[in-house]
Amino acid sequence: MITLKNVSKYYYNKGIIASGFTKLNLSFHLGEFVAITGESGSGKSTLLNVISGLDSYEEGEMYIDGKETSHYTETDFENYRREYISNIFQNFNLVNSYTVYQNIELVMLTNGKKGREVKQKVLALIDQVGLHRYKNTKVSKLSGGQKQRVAIARALAKETPILIADEPTGNLDSTSALEIIQLLHDISKDKLVIIVTHNYEQVEKYVTRKIKMHDGKVLEDKVLKKTKEVNYTKNEKQRNLCFSSKMKLGFRNAFNIFPKFVLVLMVYLFVVSSVMLAYSFFKKQIYLLENNGYNSYFQDTSSTRLVIKKEDKSVFSDEDYEKIKNISHVKKVVPYDLNLDNVIYLHDDNSFYFQGVFDDVQNFSSNKKLKYGTLPVKDDEILLLGSPNDYVLSDLGKDIIGKKVTLSTQYTSEDSKTYTITGVFYDKNLNYYDIGKIYGTNHLVDELKFSMNQSMSQLKVLFLDEYHDSNSYDVHYRIIPSDMVQGDDVYISSDFNSSCKNDSCLGYPLKIEVNQLYYQDSLSLKVGKTYQNNNMKTLLGDYSFEEYNGAIFISTDNYNRLFNKGNYQSSIFVDSEKNIDIVREELTKNNISSLKIKDTLVNDGAVEEMKIIQTIVIVTLFITLFFIAYFVIRIILKSRNIYFGTIRILGAKRSDCKQLLEIELFTVFHLAYFLFLFLLYGNWKQLFHLSIFTTVSKYLVLSDYLLLYFILVLMSYLISVRFARKIFCHSAMKTMREEV
Ligand code: ADP
Ligand code: MG
Repeated sequence: MITLKNVSKYYYNKGIIASGFTKLNLSFHLGEFVAITGESGSGKSTLLNVISGLDSYEEGEMYIDGKETSHYTETDFENYRREYISNIFQNFNLVNSYTVYQNIELVMLTNGKKGREVKQKVLALIDQVGLHRYKNTKVSKLSGGQKQRVAIARALAKETPILIADEPTGNLDSTSALEIIQLLHDISKDKLVIIVTHNYEQVEKYVTRKIKMHDGKVLEDKVLKKTKEVNYTKNEKQRNLCFSSKMKLGFRNAFNIFPKFVLVLMVYLFVVSSVMLAYSFFKKQIYLLENNGYNSYFQDTSSTRLVIKKEDKSVFSDEDYEKIKNISHVKKVVPYDLNLDNVIYLHDDNSFYFQGVFDDVQNFSSNKKLKYGTLPVKDDEILLLGSPNDYVLSDLGKDIIGKKVTLSTQYTSEDSKTYTITGVFYDKNLNYYDIGKIYGTNHLVDELKFSMNQSMSQLKVLFLDEYHDSNSYDVHYRIIPSDMVQGDDVYISSDFNSSCKNDSCLGYPLKIEVNQLYYQDSLSLKVGKTYQNNNMKTLLGDYSFEEYNGAIFISTDNYNRLFNKGNYQSSIFVDSEKNIDIVREELTKNNISSLKIKDTLVNDGAVEEMKIIQTIVIVTLFITLFFIAYFVIRIILKSRNIYFGTIRILGAKRSDCKQLLEIELFTVFHLAYFLFLFLLYGNWKQLFHLSIFTTVSKYLVLSDYLLLYFILVLMSYLISVRFARKIFCHSAMKTMREEV
C-alpha cells in the first residue's frame, strides 16, 4: 500500500540543515499493526508525518498504491490525506471549545458528509469508545484517556484505511494507556495501523511488526505475525465540506469561545460605529458647507423651502392652495409664512429670555410628549419648544410652567400684554443656539399676524387735510381695532376737538391709507365719537386713557378689511431637496413664481475645496480603521491557528479554512452592524438619547446605509483574506508546529 524507496527528509531552519531521517526503505500493507520504537530524536515522528502527507520529503520516492508522489502538489496531498489517513496524536489535537459530539462531527463535515447520516454515525462512534455520558461535554473538561478516546472515535469517523498514531499513550497513566491500545487494536481490523511508542510492552500483545529506529535510520524491522494482505477498495468519491456545513461550523466558531466572540464583536462595533459616525459627520459638514451662509430676512433657511408668489401679484385663494398641495413632492404648505421668519422674543422682568418663531398649536404634533405642562387653550397661553440644552429652559425646569412673559418682535416693540407659559417641549434635534418655536391658539396667531402686517405697512391717517404717520411705537394715530366701534365710525380722542369747528370733530371725515409691498388700500371713515378720561371704559372697554390717548379706534371689520387681505406670499416645503426643481417647474406652469431659499444665502465659495479635503480625511480615516481592526482581530484570533491546523490535518482544504474564517467574521460583523442599527432605532424612537446617534439618523439616508454596509463588508472581507493569507500560507504541519 505504501512504499518508501531511499526517502530522506531534511529540515531547513534559518540556514541550518537538520536531518529528519535518511534513505529509508520501507513498505506497509493493510492489515498490519506496526509499532515503531526508538529513542527520542531518532526520526519516528518525522517518518509518520511524511507518510501522513503532513510533511514533504526531499529525496527518494514514496509510492501510494504504486503511484509516485514526488510530483504531488499540495492539493494532491490534501486529497490523499482525506482519503487515506487518520492521525492520532500524543497531545490529542482536539478542538477544546467543542463538545465530544462536535469534535467527531467536525471530521465528518470536513469530509463532505451531512444530515442524518452524520448524527447516527457520530452517536454510534461515541458509544463504541464508551463516552456516551460525555457526548455533550466540552473536550477541555475530559481526562487524558477520555480525550484520546475522542481522538480515536474521530479517526474512525474518517473511515480511512490507514491509522497513524504518534505516541498516543504518551500523556496517559498506565491503565488508560492499556485501554487505549486495546481500543486501537479492536478497531484496526483490515486497516494499516502504525503506532509510535516509547513503551513497547504496552503494545507487544497486538503488534504484527516491530520497527526500531536510530538516528534517522531503521535499525531493526521484524515481522512478528504473518498477516494476510488485504486489498484496498477505494472509497466512494470524496466530497468536500458542503455549504450548509460551512455555515454551521462558521456560526459555531463565531460564538463558541465566548470571550473571543465578545472581543471581536467589540472591535466590529467600534469599526461600524466609527465608520457610521465619521460618515455622518462628513455628510453634516458637506451639508453645512452647502447651506452655510446667511440671510438677513429669512429665518427658516431649510433647503427644502420655497417662497412662492402668484405672477399676477394677487392673493392666493383656497383653490390655489389645493392645487399646490396636489403637486407631487410638496410636503407642506404654509399659507401665512411670515411667522416662519418673524422671530419673537419673550422676556419677563427678571432674566427670562426665549426666542422662537410663532406657530399655531394645531400644528404641534399631538403624539409628542410634553416635557412639562399642557397645551395652550386660552388666547394668552403659549407653549415653548426649545433645545434641552437651552440655558434658560434647563435652569428653570418645571418652574417654567405658569411663568408670565411679554412679547416683542423684530418689527414691533414690546407689548404690554402678558402671556402665560403652559407647557414646554424639549426638541433634541435643536442646539442651544438654535431658534425655538412658540405655539399659541389660532386666535393669537391671527392677532400677531395683523400687528405684523400693520408694522410692515406704511400707514397714513389723513385728518383735517393733513397726513399723519401711524406706527406701532407711537400711540398717536396708532390704529386699533375694537368690537365696540360700529360701521364706518372712528373713535378719536377729545383732545382733537380743539382743532375742529365749534370744538367738536364729530362727523368729520378721516381717511386711512395702507401702502405695502403687495397692495395699496384706503378707507374713508367719519368720526363717530370722541373719548376722554372719564368715558374711555364705557366707550371702548379695557383700555387705559393714559396709555391709549391719541390712538384711532376703528371697527374690527374695517381693520380686517385693511390688513387681513389674505396671503400674497406663502411658503411650501418639498419632501426632499433633490425634488425642488421638479416642483418649481410645476409651479411655473401654474403661474406661480418661486424663490429657492438656498439661493438667497450668501456664501464664501470655498465649498468645492472643502469637499475635497473632507473626502481625503474620511478615506484616510477608513483606511486607518481597517488596519486598527485588522491588527486587533489578528491578535484576538491568533489562538485560532490551532483550530485551523487541526481541521486541515482532519482533511479540510485551505480554501475551506478560509471560508470558515470568513463566515465566522461575517457573522460577528453582521451582528455588530445590526446591533448598531438597533441602537440607532432606539435613539430615534427616543427610548434613550445619545446626540451622536441623532446626527447619524439626521444626515444618513438609505443609500448611505447601503454604501457604508458595502464598505464595511469589504473591510470585513479584506480582514479575513489578509488574516487567512497569514495563517494558511504554510503546510498543515507548520501551522500546527508554530503553536506547539
Ligand atoms: P522522534 O519523534 O523520534 O523523537 P523527530 O522525528 O521528532 O524524532 O525528529 C527527528 C530529527 O529531526 C531530530 O534530530 C530533530 O531535531 C529533527 N527535527 C524534527 N522536527 C524538526 C523541525 N521542525 N526543524 C528542525 N529539525 C527538526
Ligand atoms: Mg516524536
